[in-house]
Amino acid sequence: MRSTRLLAGLLSVLLLTPLLLSAQGVNRYGNPSRVRPAPTTSAINIRDLQIRLYQFADDSMQGRQVGRYGNKKGTDYIAAELKRLGIQPAGENGTYFQTLPYLLRRFEPSSRVAVNGNPLAWNDEVVAVPGQRAPRPIQDAPVILGGTAGDTTTQITAAQAAGKVVILLPAPGRRAAGGPVAFGGRMGAPGPDRFADAAAVATVDLDELTSAQRRAINEPTVATQLAAVRGPAAAPQGAAVDSLAMLKAQMAALNPAAQLRITRAAAAKLLGGVPIEGLAAGATGGLVNASLHFTSVQSEFGRNVIGVIPGSDPALRHEYVAIGAHNDHVGFTTPVDKDSLKAFNDLLMAWMLKNEMRQPTIEVLGQFTVNMDSVRKVHPVARLDSINNGADDDGSGSMGVLEVAEAIAALPVKPKRSTLFIWHTGEEGGLVGSAYFVRHPTVSLDLIVATINVDMIGRGRAEDLPGGGDDFVGVIGSYFDSKDLGDQVKTTNAKQGKPLALDYKFDDPIAWAGYNNLYGRSDHINYARQGVPIAFFFTGLHGDYHQRSDEAEFIDYPHYARITNFLKDLTVDVGNGPRPKLNGTKPARAPRPIS
Ligand SMILES: [Zn+2]
Repeated sequence: MRSTRLLAGLLSVLLLTPLLLSAQGVNRYGNPSRVRPAPTTSAINIRDLQIRLYQFADDSMQGRQVGRYGNKKGTDYIAAELKRLGIQPAGENGTYFQTLPYLLRRFEPSSRVAVNGNPLAWNDEVVAVPGQRAPRPIQDAPVILGGTAGDTTTQITAAQAAGKVVILLPAPGRRAAGGPVAFGGRMGAPGPDRFADAAAVATVDLDELTSAQRRAINEPTVATQLAAVRGPAAAPQGAAVDSLAMLKAQMAALNPAAQLRITRAAAAKLLGGVPIEGLAAGATGGLVNASLHFTSVQSEFGRNVIGVIPGSDPALRHEYVAIGAHNDHVGFTTPVDKDSLKAFNDLLMAWMLKNEMRQPTIEVLGQFTVNMDSVRKVHPVARLDSINNGADDDGSGSMGVLEVAEAIAALPVKPKRSTLFIWHTGEEGGLVGSAYFVRHPTVSLDLIVATINVDMIGRGRAEDLPGGGDDFVGVIGSYFDSKDLGDQVKTTNAKQGKPLALDYKFDDPIAWAGYNNLYGRSDHINYARQGVPIAFFFTGLHGDYHQRSDEAEFIDYPHYARITNFLKDLTVDVGNGPRPKLNGTKPARAPRPIS
């Protein structure tokens, strides 16, 4: 007896060490500012959720934006955990991943530009800016001075520019941006492009960039999907459509003019050795030939992560219960003092709670004063933060689903149906990951009996939204496609040790600022539209929503752990119960006529 008590004592110390170590510096929510990585257990508890979420929402994940390295880091973490837990891959080619076509585009260093046979120094005097597509070839193209970028009053005509290398002076007062620029390169909004028929457009704004910045133009860090070709703006109602112009514009977009950036010295070489300052628009120069080696490679910056635990019932294991969350967030931005931001957001939230959740006016915002004295006692130096960590959005959902996977993987008897775990990418980019999955499902959609979507279950305190509190959880769309599924949610909840307060108010439009169209704003909608019954779980928005202050240390872990345990039980119950029928109140897809 004494030895077992000793053992139990030791075990709890070992288990709690990571937490104990940081317990001294806890915030007003009782959370430490740091939690060290440690092995998790099969139980769903505060400790494990903290260990996972403090990693997944750490600054090093760079806000996990789709198309950026941060998303790869987040999806690598999830896949490594699935492997560690012995959960089977259900992505492409026997992997955990379903890779979306996010491409990294660049011009290879072997690219060359020459005038009258004399090469310009690549990455020094001239750099080509990668766009969406390979540019048209440049062969014996005459040079012409085209005027100033963005100022059509100074520019030559489209006819003068056609087939030529057009040199543009930079827009006055505009600082040249270093590094890779968003595709399309040229400054200013895409208007009717008078230089669309040019062989190339070369802007004289490279002198201000360091050689590292010049090289970085073709060291892309952002991968993008191939955007559809946009034709010219639609002709006004009733006006004759110039289909030839439309076709020409689409051809130009498919095979665009190269966008070059050059130094003043290079400009002079292109214009026959005459410094650009003394020349007027229309001045001509030598003949340009170029071989621009454009490459676009598939990146790992936009991946769905998918795993499966096969069902235990031979008759039902071919069917799936899907539970998912989104693995991405909105990346990083300019640095701010995160504690004053947090203090300000708390003030804003407190005001909204007192004012029927209205958005305050500028005047009201102007009256907010943030007292930083207490914060400065703890953090004398401002903690600058540029990362949108997305701890709640949707780190909480992603790590909650991972905990559900770990718990089900440890069950001696698995649910009868198979359980599919999906972490969608690109939710913040327009639900692109779930849209891609339902178009390219790795298991047949007809065999998915229900999809449980989890997006933001880490907050929901009384200080975050009206009705918030320890038991609060928003349930959205659970009765829309299938009354059976809606009922199952209630039945499973009623069996909880301490049932949650299921709140259905978001099933209907609500006038609170920021709460528009919740049903249509997360990944479940793409499944519902394919006739898969869905249930969406959400604990509400809050002052730190899409802010740099959406951090792991502000999560409500006891509440979060209860909801995650409930989601595990729900997934198991749907996996063992009768298949939910499409007998809902507002099906997203009209039931198919029985043929
Ligand atoms: Zn989200």
